[in-house]
Amino acid sequence: MDGNIVLDVEKELNNICEECKNFDQSVKENLIMHSLKICNICKTSKLIFPI
Ligand SMILES: [Zn+2]
Repeated sequence: MDGNIVLDVEKELNNICEECKNFDQSVKENLIMHSLKICNICKTSKLIFPI
């Protein structure tokens, strides 16, 4: 069984911000909470300057 390896890769990918491409734990939280694959820094800038 190599299911854990796949899960780890998905977990890593889910923690990469689509905006700044930085790895951050908050990316996964924002993905779950807001369906936005972004980190807290990008989320804050989006909230302040919504495009
Ligand atoms: Zn970001």
